[in-house]
Amino acid sequence: MYSEAMKQNPIDTSTVINNGKYRRPVDHRIFVNRTVNLNNIEYFGFDMDYTLANYISPVFESMCTKLILQRLVDSKGYPPEILQITYDPSFAVRGTFLDKRHGNILKVDHYGFILQCVHGKKVVKRSDYVHCYPDFLIHPEAEIGDRYFCYDTLFGIPEASLYASMVDYFEKSNFIACKESGQVTSDSDEQVDQDARLSYWSLFDDIRECVQAIHSDSSLKTTVMADLDKYIKKDERLPLLFDRMRKAGKKIFLLTNSEYFYTNAVMAYLLDKSIDGYEKWTDFFDIIITNGQKPKFFKEGTTLREVDQATGSLKLSAVKGFKKGSVYTGGSFSLFKKFTKTKGSEVLYVGDNIFHDIIETNNWMTKRSTEMWAKVNTLEYLRAESFKGLDSSYPITTKRDEVPVKQQIVKAQEELNAHFNSYFGSTFRSGTRESYFSTQVQRFADLYCSDAVLLLYYPFNYYFSTIPTLLPHERAALRQFEKGTTVA
Ligand code: IMP
Ligand code: MG
Repeated sequence: MYSEAMKQNPIDTSTVINNGKYRRPVDHRIFVNRTVNLNNIEYFGFDMDYTLANYISPVFESMCTKLILQRLVDSKGYPPEILQITYDPSFAVRGTFLDKRHGNILKVDHYGFILQCVHGKKVVKRSDYVHCYPDFLIHPEAEIGDRYFCYDTLFGIPEASLYASMVDYFEKSNFIACKESGQVTSDSDEQVDQDARLSYWSLFDDIRECVQAIHSDSSLKTTVMADLDKYIKKDERLPLLFDRMRKAGKKIFLLTNSEYFYTNAVMAYLLDKSIDGYEKWTDFFDIIITNGQKPKFFKEGTTLREVDQATGSLKLSAVKGFKKGSVYTGGSFSLFKKFTKTKGSEVLYVGDNIFHDIIETNNWMTKRSTEMWAKVNTLEYLRAESFKGLDSSYPITTKRDEVPVKQQIVKAQEELNAHFNSYFGSTFRSGTRESYFSTQVQRFADLYCSDAVLLLYYPFNYYFSTIPTLLPHERAALRQFEKGTTVA
Protein backbone atom coordinates (compact mmCIF):
# COMPACT_ATOMS: atom_id res chain seq x y z
CA MET A 1 0.00 0.00 0.00
CA TYR A 2 1.41 3.39 -0.70
CA SER A 3 1.49 6.04 1.97
CA GLU A 4 -1.09 8.70 2.82
CA ALA A 5 1.60 11.37 2.56
CA MET A 6 2.33 10.26 -0.97
CA LYS A 7 -1.35 10.47 -1.87
CA GLN A 8 -1.60 14.02 -0.50
CA ASN A 9 1.50 15.39 -2.12
CA PRO A 10 3.33 12.87 -4.23
CA ILE A 11 5.22 15.29 -6.41
CA ASP A 12 8.31 17.21 -5.48
CA THR A 13 7.35 20.62 -6.79
CA SER A 14 10.82 22.15 -6.67
CA THR A 15 11.74 23.41 -10.10
CA VAL A 16 14.86 24.65 -11.72
CA ILE A 17 14.89 27.88 -13.66
CA ASN A 18 17.06 27.59 -16.72
CA ASN A 19 17.46 30.61 -18.99
CA GLY A 20 14.14 31.86 -17.70
CA LYS A 21 12.40 28.66 -18.88
CA TYR A 22 10.50 26.40 -16.53
CA ARG A 23 12.24 23.04 -16.17
CA ARG A 24 11.26 20.01 -14.13
CA PRO A 25 13.98 18.59 -11.86
CA VAL A 26 16.28 16.57 -14.08
CA ASP A 27 15.48 13.25 -12.38
CA HIS A 28 11.80 13.78 -13.27
CA ARG A 29 12.30 14.73 -16.88
CA ILE A 30 11.29 13.04 -20.08
CA PHE A 31 13.43 14.09 -23.02
CA VAL A 32 12.14 14.78 -26.50
CA ASN A 33 13.43 13.67 -29.88
CA ARG A 34 10.22 14.40 -31.79
CA THR A 35 7.16 16.40 -30.85
CA VAL A 36 4.48 14.43 -28.99
CA ASN A 37 1.19 15.94 -27.88
CA LEU A 38 -0.20 13.85 -25.00
CA ASN A 39 -3.61 15.34 -25.73
CA ASN A 40 -3.68 13.24 -28.90
CA ILE A 41 -2.69 10.03 -27.14
CA GLU A 42 -5.63 7.76 -26.47
CA TYR A 43 -3.76 4.56 -25.59
CA PHE A 44 -0.67 4.39 -23.38
CA GLY A 45 1.03 1.01 -23.76
CA PHE A 46 3.68 -0.45 -21.49
CA ASP A 47 6.26 -3.16 -21.87
CA MET A 48 6.87 -5.19 -18.72
CA ASP A 49 10.48 -6.38 -18.33
CA TYR A 50 12.83 -3.49 -17.62
CA THR A 51 9.95 -1.02 -18.06
CA LEU A 52 7.28 -1.64 -15.42
CA ALA A 53 9.37 -4.36 -13.80
CA ASN A 54 12.84 -2.98 -13.15
CA TYR A 55 15.31 -5.65 -12.08
CA ILE A 56 17.57 -4.94 -9.14
CA SER A 57 21.21 -4.66 -10.12
CA PRO A 58 23.60 -6.43 -9.57
CA VAL A 59 21.69 -9.25 -7.82
CA PHE A 60 19.61 -10.00 -10.90
CA GLU A 61 22.60 -10.08 -13.28
CA SER A 62 24.61 -12.18 -10.78
CA MET A 63 21.79 -14.71 -10.65
CA CYS A 64 21.56 -14.78 -14.49
CA THR A 65 25.33 -15.31 -14.70
CA LYS A 66 25.18 -18.27 -12.29
CA LEU A 67 22.35 -19.88 -14.26
CA ILE A 68 24.15 -19.46 -17.59
CA LEU A 69 27.39 -20.91 -16.18
CA GLN A 70 25.56 -23.89 -14.70
CA ARG A 71 23.90 -24.49 -18.06
CA LEU A 72 27.27 -24.36 -19.84
CA VAL A 73 28.58 -27.02 -17.46
CA ASP A 74 25.46 -29.22 -17.57
CA SER A 75 24.66 -29.15 -21.25
CA LYS A 76 27.75 -27.96 -23.10
CA GLY A 77 30.49 -29.87 -21.29
CA TYR A 78 32.32 -26.84 -19.87
CA PRO A 79 34.59 -27.54 -16.87
CA PRO A 80 32.94 -27.00 -13.45
CA GLU A 81 35.78 -24.58 -12.58
CA ILE A 82 34.01 -21.89 -14.63
CA LEU A 83 31.36 -21.78 -11.88
CA GLN A 84 33.89 -19.61 -9.97
CA ILE A 85 33.40 -16.80 -12.50
CA THR A 86 31.32 -13.98 -11.02
CA TYR A 87 29.36 -11.14 -12.59
CA ASP A 88 31.38 -7.94 -12.91
CA PRO A 89 28.96 -4.97 -12.65
CA SER A 90 31.67 -2.54 -13.75
CA PHE A 91 32.03 -4.11 -17.17
CA ALA A 92 29.51 -3.93 -19.98
CA VAL A 93 27.45 -1.06 -21.32
CA ARG A 94 24.38 -1.37 -23.45
CA GLY A 95 24.48 -1.07 -27.24
CA THR A 96 27.91 -2.66 -27.74
CA PHE A 97 28.69 -5.16 -30.52
CA LEU A 98 30.38 -8.48 -30.19
CA ASP A 99 32.65 -9.37 -33.09
CA LYS A 100 32.31 -13.14 -33.06
CA ARG A 101 35.30 -13.60 -35.32
CA HIS A 102 37.82 -11.90 -33.06
CA GLY A 103 36.03 -12.06 -29.71
CA ASN A 104 36.19 -8.27 -29.31
CA ILE A 105 33.42 -6.19 -27.80
CA LEU A 106 33.13 -2.92 -29.69
CA LYS A 107 31.49 0.38 -29.02
CA VAL A 108 30.92 2.14 -32.32
CA ASP A 109 29.40 5.37 -33.52
CA HIS A 110 26.45 5.81 -35.87
CA TYR A 111 28.55 5.05 -38.96
CA GLY A 112 30.21 2.00 -37.40
CA PHE A 113 33.51 3.76 -36.57
CA ILE A 114 35.08 2.09 -33.57
CA LEU A 115 35.09 4.21 -30.43
CA GLN A 116 36.34 1.49 -28.10
CA CYS A 117 37.59 -2.07 -28.51
CA VAL A 118 37.73 -4.42 -25.53
CA HIS A 119 39.13 -7.95 -25.63
CA GLY A 120 38.38 -10.08 -22.58
CA LYS A 121 38.63 -7.53 -19.79
CA LYS A 122 41.31 -5.51 -21.51
CA VAL A 123 40.93 -2.25 -23.43
CA VAL A 124 42.77 -2.66 -26.76
CA LYS A 125 44.79 0.23 -28.22
CA ARG A 126 44.02 1.38 -31.76
CA SER A 127 47.44 0.24 -32.94
CA ASP A 128 46.66 -3.28 -31.67
CA TYR A 129 43.31 -3.65 -33.41
CA VAL A 130 44.05 -1.88 -36.68
CA HIS A 131 44.82 -5.23 -38.35
CA CYS A 132 41.31 -6.50 -37.48
CA TYR A 133 39.55 -3.35 -38.65
CA PRO A 134 41.87 -1.57 -41.12
CA ASP A 135 39.48 1.37 -41.61
CA PHE A 136 38.54 1.41 -37.90
CA LEU A 137 35.07 0.68 -39.22
CA ILE A 138 32.51 -2.12 -38.98
CA HIS A 139 29.20 -2.47 -40.80
CA PRO A 140 26.87 -3.37 -37.96
CA GLU A 141 23.61 -3.22 -39.87
CA ALA A 142 24.84 -5.34 -42.79
CA GLU A 143 26.40 -8.01 -40.60
CA ILE A 144 24.21 -7.98 -37.52
CA GLY A 145 22.98 -11.49 -36.82
CA ASP A 146 25.98 -12.86 -38.66
CA ARG A 147 29.44 -11.72 -37.61
CA TYR A 148 28.24 -9.12 -35.12
CA PHE A 149 25.79 -9.42 -32.27
CA CYS A 150 24.38 -6.33 -30.57
CA TYR A 151 23.84 -6.37 -26.81
CA ASP A 152 20.91 -4.02 -27.22
CA THR A 153 18.84 -4.66 -24.10
CA LEU A 154 19.67 -4.65 -20.41
CA PHE A 155 19.31 -8.45 -20.42
CA GLY A 156 22.46 -8.46 -22.59
CA ILE A 157 24.66 -6.86 -19.92
CA PRO A 158 25.41 -10.05 -17.91
CA GLU A 159 25.83 -11.95 -21.17
CA ALA A 160 28.46 -9.51 -22.50
CA SER A 161 30.25 -9.44 -19.17
CA LEU A 162 30.32 -13.23 -18.99
CA TYR A 163 31.62 -13.51 -22.56
CA ALA A 164 34.58 -11.26 -21.70
CA SER A 165 35.36 -13.22 -18.52
CA MET A 166 35.23 -16.50 -20.45
CA VAL A 167 37.61 -15.16 -23.12
CA ASP A 168 40.12 -14.32 -20.38
CA TYR A 169 39.56 -17.65 -18.69
CA PHE A 170 40.05 -19.81 -21.78
CA GLU A 171 42.87 -17.78 -23.27
CA LYS A 172 44.81 -18.20 -20.03
CA SER A 173 44.53 -21.95 -20.34
CA ASN A 174 45.23 -21.73 -24.09
CA PHE A 175 41.91 -23.44 -24.73
CA ILE A 176 40.62 -20.89 -27.16
CA ALA A 177 41.67 -21.05 -30.79
CA CYS A 178 43.55 -17.81 -31.23
CA LYS A 179 46.96 -17.09 -32.64
CA GLU A 180 48.62 -16.59 -29.35
CA SER A 181 47.15 -16.55 -25.90
CA GLY A 182 45.82 -13.11 -25.01
CA GLN A 183 46.38 -11.68 -28.51
CA VAL A 184 43.86 -10.15 -30.83
CA THR A 185 43.83 -12.27 -33.98
CA SER A 186 44.12 -10.75 -37.42
CA ASP A 187 41.37 -10.75 -40.02
CA SER A 188 43.21 -13.31 -42.15
CA ASP A 189 43.54 -15.85 -39.35
CA GLU A 190 41.40 -18.91 -39.87
CA GLN A 191 38.94 -19.03 -37.02
CA VAL A 192 37.63 -22.50 -37.72
CA ASP A 193 38.99 -24.62 -34.97
CA GLN A 194 41.28 -27.36 -36.17
CA ASP A 195 41.96 -29.06 -32.86
CA ALA A 196 38.64 -29.14 -31.06
CA ARG A 197 39.38 -26.10 -28.97
CA LEU A 198 36.88 -23.29 -28.66
CA SER A 199 36.78 -20.43 -31.13
CA TYR A 200 35.54 -16.95 -30.24
CA TRP A 201 32.54 -17.68 -32.43
CA SER A 202 31.68 -21.05 -30.85
CA LEU A 203 32.09 -19.59 -27.37
CA PHE A 204 29.57 -16.92 -28.30
CA ASP A 205 27.17 -19.54 -29.73
CA ASP A 206 27.39 -21.67 -26.58
CA ILE A 207 26.71 -18.75 -24.24
CA ARG A 208 23.89 -17.46 -26.49
CA GLU A 209 22.22 -20.87 -26.55
CA CYS A 210 22.37 -21.11 -22.76
CA VAL A 211 20.99 -17.57 -22.38
CA GLN A 212 18.10 -18.46 -24.70
CA ALA A 213 17.50 -21.62 -22.68
CA ILE A 214 17.32 -19.96 -19.26
CA HIS A 215 14.86 -17.41 -20.67
CA SER A 216 12.63 -19.88 -22.44
CA ASP A 217 12.53 -22.76 -19.97
CA SER A 218 11.32 -21.68 -16.57
CA SER A 219 14.68 -21.59 -14.71
CA LEU A 220 15.25 -17.82 -14.72
CA LYS A 221 11.61 -16.96 -14.19
CA THR A 222 10.92 -19.42 -11.36
CA THR A 223 14.01 -18.11 -9.54
CA VAL A 224 12.66 -14.54 -9.79
CA MET A 225 9.14 -15.62 -8.83
CA ALA A 226 10.45 -17.39 -5.73
CA ASP A 227 11.90 -14.11 -4.41
CA LEU A 228 10.29 -11.14 -6.16
CA ASP A 229 11.40 -8.68 -3.49
CA LYS A 230 15.00 -9.61 -4.07
CA TYR A 231 14.95 -9.18 -7.84
CA ILE A 232 12.34 -6.56 -8.76
CA LYS A 233 12.00 -2.97 -7.55
CA LYS A 234 8.54 -2.02 -6.41
CA ASP A 235 7.61 1.58 -7.15
CA GLU A 236 4.59 2.90 -5.32
CA ARG A 237 4.21 5.70 -7.88
CA LEU A 238 3.18 3.19 -10.56
CA PRO A 239 -0.41 2.51 -9.40
CA LEU A 240 -0.81 6.24 -8.83
CA LEU A 241 0.25 6.96 -12.42
CA PHE A 242 -2.19 4.38 -13.81
CA ASP A 243 -5.01 5.64 -11.61
CA ARG A 244 -4.45 9.22 -12.78
CA MET A 245 -4.26 8.10 -16.39
CA ARG A 246 -7.57 6.32 -16.11
CA LYS A 247 -9.18 9.32 -14.37
CA ALA A 248 -7.90 11.53 -17.22
CA GLY A 249 -9.80 9.29 -19.64
CA LYS A 250 -6.73 7.60 -21.08
CA LYS A 251 -6.66 3.90 -21.94
CA ILE A 252 -3.83 1.67 -20.79
CA PHE A 253 -2.49 -1.53 -22.28
CA LEU A 254 0.23 -3.99 -21.39
CA LEU A 255 2.23 -5.55 -24.20
CA THR A 256 5.00 -7.87 -23.08
CA ASN A 257 6.99 -10.69 -24.60
CA SER A 258 6.86 -12.53 -21.27
CA GLU A 259 4.54 -15.47 -20.90
CA TYR A 260 1.28 -15.26 -18.95
CA PHE A 261 2.44 -17.25 -15.88
CA TYR A 262 5.36 -14.88 -15.34
CA THR A 263 3.51 -11.69 -16.23
CA ASN A 264 0.77 -12.62 -13.80
CA ALA A 265 3.23 -13.16 -10.94
CA VAL A 266 5.25 -10.02 -11.59
CA MET A 267 2.33 -7.67 -12.22
CA ALA A 268 0.45 -9.00 -9.19
CA TYR A 269 3.53 -8.24 -7.10
CA LEU A 270 3.73 -4.71 -8.51
CA LEU A 271 0.04 -3.76 -8.53
CA ASP A 272 -2.39 -6.07 -6.70
CA LYS A 273 -4.27 -4.19 -3.96
CA SER A 274 -1.84 -1.27 -4.29
CA ILE A 275 -4.48 1.45 -4.32
CA ASP A 276 -8.13 1.79 -3.40
CA GLY A 277 -10.55 0.90 -6.14
CA TYR A 278 -8.34 -1.70 -7.80
CA GLU A 279 -8.41 -5.27 -6.54
CA LYS A 280 -6.27 -7.07 -9.09
CA TRP A 281 -3.46 -5.86 -11.37
CA THR A 282 -5.62 -6.62 -14.40
CA ASP A 283 -8.08 -3.90 -13.25
CA PHE A 284 -5.56 -1.21 -14.24
CA PHE A 285 -5.44 -2.26 -17.89
CA ASP A 286 -7.88 -2.05 -20.79
CA ILE A 287 -5.95 -4.54 -22.89
CA ILE A 288 -3.41 -7.15 -21.79
CA ILE A 289 -1.20 -8.94 -24.29
CA THR A 290 1.41 -11.42 -23.06
CA ASN A 291 3.83 -13.35 -25.27
CA GLY A 292 3.40 -10.51 -27.78
CA GLN A 293 6.39 -11.62 -29.86
CA LYS A 294 7.79 -8.15 -30.49
CA PRO A 295 9.24 -7.09 -32.86
CA LYS A 296 7.02 -9.39 -34.97
CA PHE A 297 4.00 -7.80 -33.25
CA PHE A 298 4.83 -4.49 -34.96
CA LYS A 299 5.25 -6.21 -38.34
CA GLU A 300 3.28 -9.24 -39.54
CA GLY A 301 2.23 -10.32 -36.03
CA THR A 302 1.04 -13.76 -34.92
CA THR A 303 -2.36 -15.32 -34.21
CA LEU A 304 -4.21 -13.70 -31.35
CA ARG A 305 -5.38 -16.19 -28.69
CA GLU A 306 -7.13 -15.79 -25.38
CA VAL A 307 -5.54 -17.05 -22.15
CA ASP A 308 -7.60 -18.98 -19.62
CA GLN A 309 -6.44 -17.15 -16.49
CA ALA A 310 -7.26 -20.06 -14.17
CA THR A 311 -5.23 -22.69 -16.03
CA GLY A 312 -2.95 -20.68 -18.33
CA SER A 313 -4.17 -22.67 -21.33
CA LEU A 314 -4.84 -20.92 -24.62
CA LYS A 315 -8.05 -20.66 -26.56
CA LEU A 316 -8.01 -20.20 -30.29
CA SER A 317 -11.19 -18.41 -31.23
CA ALA A 318 -12.14 -15.79 -33.76
CA VAL A 319 -11.59 -12.87 -31.38
CA LYS A 320 -13.58 -9.86 -32.63
CA GLY A 321 -12.24 -7.31 -30.18
CA PHE A 322 -10.40 -6.94 -26.88
CA LYS A 323 -12.40 -7.45 -23.68
CA LYS A 324 -11.33 -5.62 -20.51
CA GLY A 325 -10.19 -8.13 -17.90
CA SER A 326 -9.21 -10.74 -20.53
CA VAL A 327 -5.62 -11.70 -21.25
CA TYR A 328 -4.37 -12.44 -24.77
CA THR A 329 -1.24 -13.77 -26.42
CA GLY A 330 0.17 -12.79 -29.81
CA GLY A 331 -1.68 -10.48 -32.19
CA SER A 332 -0.28 -7.55 -34.12
CA PHE A 333 -0.23 -3.77 -34.09
CA SER A 334 -2.49 -3.59 -37.15
CA LEU A 335 -5.07 -5.76 -35.39
CA PHE A 336 -4.66 -3.59 -32.29
CA LYS A 337 -5.41 -0.45 -34.33
CA LYS A 338 -8.38 -2.14 -35.99
CA PHE A 339 -9.94 -3.32 -32.70
CA THR A 340 -9.33 -0.05 -30.87
CA LYS A 341 -10.19 2.12 -33.91
CA THR A 342 -7.05 4.18 -33.37
CA LYS A 343 -4.30 5.53 -35.59
CA GLY A 344 -0.67 4.80 -34.72
CA SER A 345 -0.20 8.44 -33.70
CA GLU A 346 -2.82 8.00 -30.97
CA VAL A 347 -0.77 5.28 -29.27
CA LEU A 348 2.32 5.86 -27.13
CA TYR A 349 4.20 2.69 -26.31
CA VAL A 350 6.71 2.81 -23.47
CA GLY A 351 9.44 0.19 -23.42
CA ASP A 352 13.13 -0.44 -23.01
CA ASN A 353 13.94 -1.82 -26.42
CA ILE A 354 15.70 0.62 -28.74
CA PHE A 355 13.85 -0.54 -31.77
CA HIS A 356 10.25 0.24 -30.87
CA ASP A 357 9.66 2.26 -27.79
CA ILE A 358 9.98 5.43 -25.84
CA ILE A 359 13.29 4.59 -24.27
CA GLU A 360 14.13 4.11 -20.69
CA THR A 361 17.76 4.31 -19.92
CA ASN A 362 20.24 5.22 -17.23
CA ASN A 363 23.72 6.66 -17.42
CA TRP A 364 22.74 10.32 -17.08
CA MET A 365 25.17 13.17 -16.90
CA THR A 366 25.85 13.81 -13.22
CA LYS A 367 27.27 17.00 -11.73
CA ARG A 368 30.79 15.57 -11.83
CA SER A 369 30.47 14.41 -15.44
CA THR A 370 28.96 17.78 -16.40
CA GLU A 371 32.09 19.47 -15.03
CA MET A 372 34.27 17.07 -17.00
CA TRP A 373 32.21 17.71 -20.11
CA ALA A 374 32.69 21.47 -19.62
CA LYS A 375 36.45 20.86 -19.40
CA VAL A 376 36.46 18.94 -22.71
CA ASN A 377 34.49 21.75 -24.34
CA THR A 378 36.80 24.42 -22.97
CA LEU A 379 39.82 22.58 -24.30
CA GLU A 380 38.18 22.22 -27.70
CA TYR A 381 37.56 25.97 -27.61
CA LEU A 382 41.22 26.60 -26.77
CA ARG A 383 42.28 24.37 -29.65
CA ALA A 384 40.06 26.36 -32.03
CA GLU A 385 41.43 29.62 -30.58
CA SER A 386 44.98 28.51 -31.32
CA PHE A 387 44.10 28.70 -35.05
CA LYS A 388 42.56 32.17 -34.75
CA GLY A 389 43.62 34.59 -37.48
CA LEU A 390 45.77 32.02 -39.31
CA ASP A 391 45.37 31.30 -43.01
CA SER A 392 47.20 29.28 -45.66
CA SER A 393 50.27 31.55 -45.42
CA TYR A 394 50.99 30.13 -42.00
CA PRO A 395 54.20 28.05 -42.10
CA ILE A 396 53.24 24.67 -40.69
CA THR A 397 56.79 23.98 -39.57
CA THR A 398 56.34 26.73 -37.01
CA LYS A 399 56.12 25.23 -33.55
CA ARG A 400 52.63 25.91 -32.30
CA ASP A 401 51.14 25.40 -28.92
CA GLU A 402 48.52 23.00 -30.27
CA VAL A 403 49.96 19.65 -29.21
CA PRO A 404 49.67 20.07 -25.42
CA VAL A 405 46.01 21.07 -25.92
CA LYS A 406 45.49 17.93 -27.95
CA GLN A 407 47.03 15.79 -25.21
CA GLN A 408 44.90 17.50 -22.61
CA ILE A 409 41.79 16.90 -24.71
CA VAL A 410 42.60 13.19 -24.96
CA LYS A 411 43.20 13.04 -21.20
CA ALA A 412 39.99 14.96 -20.39
CA GLN A 413 37.98 12.69 -22.71
CA GLU A 414 39.48 9.60 -21.07
CA GLU A 415 38.54 10.99 -17.64
CA LEU A 416 35.00 11.67 -18.85
CA ASN A 417 34.67 8.18 -20.32
CA ALA A 418 36.10 6.48 -17.22
CA HIS A 419 33.65 8.38 -15.05
CA PHE A 420 30.86 6.33 -16.63
CA ASN A 421 32.58 3.01 -17.24
CA SER A 422 36.31 2.33 -17.31
CA TYR A 423 36.02 -0.07 -20.26
CA PHE A 424 33.48 1.56 -22.55
CA GLY A 425 32.70 5.06 -21.25
CA SER A 426 29.15 6.41 -21.38
CA THR A 427 26.39 4.50 -23.16
CA PHE A 428 25.68 7.64 -25.17
CA ARG A 429 29.06 8.94 -26.22
CA SER A 430 32.83 8.68 -26.22
CA GLY A 431 34.25 12.14 -25.61
CA THR A 432 32.45 14.38 -28.04
CA ARG A 433 31.33 11.57 -30.38
CA GLU A 434 27.90 9.99 -30.06
CA SER A 435 27.59 6.23 -29.84
CA TYR A 436 25.55 3.98 -32.13
CA PHE A 437 23.17 3.43 -29.23
CA SER A 438 22.70 7.17 -28.83
CA THR A 439 21.78 7.66 -32.49
CA GLN A 440 19.45 4.66 -32.39
CA VAL A 441 17.64 6.25 -29.43
CA GLN A 442 17.29 9.47 -31.39
CA ARG A 443 16.11 7.62 -34.47
CA PHE A 444 13.58 5.24 -32.97
CA ALA A 445 12.26 6.89 -29.81
CA ASP A 446 10.09 10.00 -29.82
CA LEU A 447 10.71 10.44 -26.11
CA TYR A 448 13.20 8.94 -23.66
CA CYS A 449 13.63 8.96 -19.91
CA SER A 450 15.12 7.01 -17.00
CA ASP A 451 11.87 5.42 -15.85
CA ALA A 452 8.38 4.96 -17.32
CA VAL A 453 6.85 6.21 -14.08
CA LEU A 454 8.12 9.74 -14.85
CA LEU A 455 4.96 10.28 -16.90
CA LEU A 456 3.53 10.99 -13.46
CA TYR A 457 5.20 14.40 -13.50
CA TYR A 458 3.48 15.66 -16.66
CA PRO A 459 -0.15 16.61 -17.27
CA PHE A 460 -1.91 14.35 -19.75
CA ASN A 461 -2.36 17.23 -22.17
CA TYR A 462 1.38 18.01 -22.15
CA TYR A 463 3.00 19.08 -25.40
CA PHE A 464 6.50 17.64 -25.70
CA SER A 465 8.17 19.95 -28.19
CA THR A 466 11.63 19.75 -29.67
CA ILE A 467 14.06 22.61 -29.53
CA PRO A 468 15.02 23.16 -33.17
CA THR A 469 18.66 22.27 -33.74
CA LEU A 470 20.61 24.35 -36.19
CA LEU A 471 23.07 23.07 -38.74
CA PRO A 472 26.62 24.42 -38.31
CA HIS A 473 26.24 26.95 -41.17
CA GLU A 474 22.89 28.12 -39.77
CA ARG A 475 24.47 28.62 -36.35
CA ALA A 476 27.28 30.66 -37.94
CA ALA A 477 24.73 32.77 -39.82
CA LEU A 478 22.73 33.33 -36.66
CA ARG A 479 25.82 34.46 -34.76
CA GLN A 480 26.67 36.89 -37.57
CA PHE A 481 23.11 38.12 -37.58
CA GLU A 482 23.20 38.67 -33.80
CA LYS A 483 26.34 40.76 -34.28
CA GLY A 484 24.39 42.94 -36.72
CA THR A 485 25.96 41.75 -39.96
CA THR A 486 24.53 39.46 -42.58
CA VAL A 487 26.08 36.59 -44.45
CA ALA A 488 25.74 36.18 -48.19
P1 IMP B 1 9.35 -7.58 -22.38
O1 IMP B 1 10.53 -6.70 -22.25
O2 IMP B 1 8.36 -7.42 -21.27
O3 IMP B 1 8.71 -7.53 -23.73
O4 IMP B 1 9.86 -9.09 -22.23
C1 IMP B 1 11.12 -9.53 -22.44
C2 IMP B 1 11.05 -11.05 -22.46
O5 IMP B 1 12.09 -11.52 -23.29
C3 IMP B 1 11.26 -11.69 -21.10
O6 IMP B 1 10.34 -12.76 -20.96
C4 IMP B 1 12.65 -12.24 -21.15
O7 IMP B 1 12.82 -13.39 -20.38
C5 IMP B 1 12.81 -12.53 -22.63
N1 IMP B 1 14.22 -12.42 -23.10
C6 IMP B 1 15.09 -11.44 -22.87
N2 IMP B 1 16.27 -11.70 -23.45
C7 IMP B 1 16.12 -12.87 -24.09
C8 IMP B 1 17.00 -13.67 -24.90
O8 IMP B 1 18.16 -13.33 -25.13
N3 IMP B 1 16.47 -14.82 -25.39
C9 IMP B 1 15.19 -15.22 -25.16
N4 IMP B 1 14.34 -14.49 -24.41
C10 IMP B 1 14.80 -13.34 -23.87
MG1 MG C 1 11.40 -4.96 -21.98
